[in-house]
Amino acid sequence: MAAIILPELLPHVIRAEGQASSGGNGNGNSDPENRRNGHSASPSRANVNGQSTGQSNGRAHTIKPTFVRDTHPIDFPWKIEWNPETCIRCGSCVSTCTFGAIQPSLQRQGQTLSAGSFPKPVEATQVIMAIKQVNDPKHYCRGCGMCEKVCPTNSIHPVQNEHNRFPLVARAGGSPVKRGGRGHIRARVFDHIKVGRISQMTDPSLDAARHTFDLLTPLGRGLPAEELALQLDNGRLVESGWMPPVRWIYPIIIGDMSVGALSWRMWESLALAVAYLNEECGLPVVMSSGEGGMPVRLLTSEYLKYYIIQIASGHFGWNRIIKAMPQMVTDPAGILIKIGQGAKPGDGGLLPAEKVAPHIQAIRGVPKADLLSPPNHQGLYSIEESVQKMFLSMNAAFKFRVPVAIKVAASSTSVAVFNNLVRDPYHIVGGFFLDGIQGGTGAAHEVSLDHTGHPILSKLRDCYLDAVTQGRQGHIPLFVGGGFGDTGDLAADAFKAICLGANGVFAAKIFLQLAGCVGNEKGRCNACNTGKCPVGITTQDPRLVARLDVDAVAQNVVDYFLAADMELKKLMAPIGNSSLPVGRSDALVSLSKPVADRLQIAYAC
Ligand code: SF4
Ligand code: SF4
Repeated sequence: MAAIILPELLPHVIRAEGQASSGGNGNGNSDPENRRNGHSASPSRANVNGQSTGQSNGRAHTIKPTFVRDTHPIDFPWKIEWNPETCIRCGSCVSTCTFGAIQPSLQRQGQTLSAGSFPKPVEATQVIMAIKQVNDPKHYCRGCGMCEKVCPTNSIHPVQNEHNRFPLVARAGGSPVKRGGRGHIRARVFDHIKVGRISQMTDPSLDAARHTFDLLTPLGRGLPAEELALQLDNGRLVESGWMPPVRWIYPIIIGDMSVGALSWRMWESLALAVAYLNEECGLPVVMSSGEGGMPVRLLTSEYLKYYIIQIASGHFGWNRIIKAMPQMVTDPAGILIKIGQGAKPGDGGLLPAEKVAPHIQAIRGVPKADLLSPPNHQGLYSIEESVQKMFLSMNAAFKFRVPVAIKVAASSTSVAVFNNLVRDPYHIVGGFFLDGIQGGTGAAHEVSLDHTGHPILSKLRDCYLDAVTQGRQGHIPLFVGGGFGDTGDLAADAFKAICLGANGVFAAKIFLQLAGCVGNEKGRCNACNTGKCPVGITTQDPRLVARLDVDAVAQNVVDYFLAADMELKKLMAPIGNSSLPVGRSDALVSLSKPVADRLQIAYAC
C-alpha cells in the first residue's frame, strides 16, 4: 500500500529495511510470530525457552517454534475479523465485550512510504493501534456479536470457526466444561409435523377472528364424574366434601427461571408482563418462580396468584416463603416440586458464585458461594414415598387449597413415574410437568447439556396414551417443555403438543430471546453461567443489568403472548375446535414415517 507520510510523523515510523510488508490478519496478529502462536513478541520468554533470536535478512524479531499444544484464537469456536482500514479506534468493542475476548494492542504494519519533494519509495513499518483477539481459553470469544453491534463503522465481526479445537483446549487443568443456555441439539421433531386435517364443507372451519374460543386448561387434579364430591341440594349442585383444587390457566406457562439465574430486571420484566396479561388482556398466564424463592414483597402481594412456586432439592428460598405465609393475602397458582429438569437430568440446580449477589443471598439465605442442589430430594428413597411425603407436606402447608404438581426430566422411565402418580388413590398430584432434552438452563456441565436427556414428544405421547389405555386421561394434567418456541413459533409447537395429549406447555428460552438474548442452538453465546451475560439477562452485575430495558422487555413479552393467542386460534379454527384440542392427534400428519409410527399419527408424503 502506498501512502504519503508527513515529516512530523516520521519519528513514529520504525525503519526496518528489508522487511516485507504485512497487514493485519484480523486477529490483531500481524507479525509472523503472532500469526503462529498468538503471543506478543517477548524476548524474555524466548530466552526462557532457549529459542534463538533471528537477525538474518534484517529481521529484528524473535522466531519461535510452534507447539501444537499452544492455544491460538484459531482453536476457539469464534474468530474475530477486524478491519484496520475502517476502524476508527473508538474502543467501543473492547469496552462492550463482557468476556474480555478482545483487547487493544500495538501492531506493526509494513508500508511503502514516500517523503520529500522528489518522492522516493521507502520500505518502512509503523506501529498502529489494533484490536486483537485474546489468546486465552478462559476469555474465548462467545460469538455474542455485541462488539459488532456497537461498532460505528462495521469494522469487527465474530465468525464461527468450524475447524476449532475448543473441546480439546477447554479441558486444560482437568475441569469439565460448563455452560449455560441450551444444548447443541438441532433435531426438531415438531418440524416434521403439520396440521393436516382441515375441516371443510360438512364440518366447516371456525372463524379465528370472530368465533369465541376457550383456551383455558386445568392445573390441578381432575376427578372422574362418579368421584366428584357433589350432591343435589334443593335442585342446586353443592359440594359435599373436599375436592382437589384446580386453577384454570392459560396453556402456555412461563417456565422455571429463578431469581438468581435471571437478573432482577429480567425477572421484573416477566413479572410485569404476567400482571399485564392477566389484568389488562384477560389471559391468565402464570409463571413459575424456579428454584430460589421469591421476593417477600411479591409473596405478600395480590400478584402471588399468578405464580407457581417451585421447590427443588436444594430448598433454596423456602425459609423465606414459609416465614411469609402468615402475611400472604392470596394463594399462589400452584406449587411445583422439581425432581429433575430436561437440560441436565440426574443433576441438581447450579447457581455459580459469580451470580450470588447480595439480594440473592438475602432471598436464599446463603453466603456468596456456588449453590448446588443435590440431584434428588434427600431422605426419600422411592417414587411413592417421595411423592407422598412431598405432596402431603406441600398440600398441608397451603391447607389443601393449592394444586401441587411435579416436574421431572423426560426419560425412558418417566412413564413409570407418571403411572404411579395417576394411580395414586388419594388424588394428591395436580399436574405432571415433563421437561425434554432441549430445555435450557442457567448453568450445567456441557456433557450433561449435550448428551443426557430424552426428546419430549415421544415421552409425552407415551404418558398420554398410557393414561388413555387406563381410561384416566385428564386426571393429571400433562404439561410439557424443552425447546418449545426455539424457532420463534411457540404457538405452533404448543398446538402440536396439545394435539398429542398435553394440556399445556411451558417455555422459557423464548422469553429470554424476546428480551434480546443472542444465544442459539448453534453455539452462539450460551454463557449464562458466567455472570457476564452481554445483554443483562442472566447476570447480577449492575453495569450489565443496566443494559436491559424493563418496560421494553415486558412489552415484547405481552405482544408475543397476544400474537401467540391469535396464532393458537388460527390453528384451532381450521380443525373445528373452539376449546383446546387435547389429544386430537387425528388433526396432525407427519412428513416422516418413523415419526408418524412412533407418535401414532398419520403419515403423509
Ligand atoms: S463477539 Fe462477543 S465475546 Fe466475541 S469479541 Fe465480540 S463482544 Fe467479545
Ligand atoms: S445473551 Fe445472556 S441469556 Fe442469552 S445466551 Fe448469552 S448469556 Fe445467556
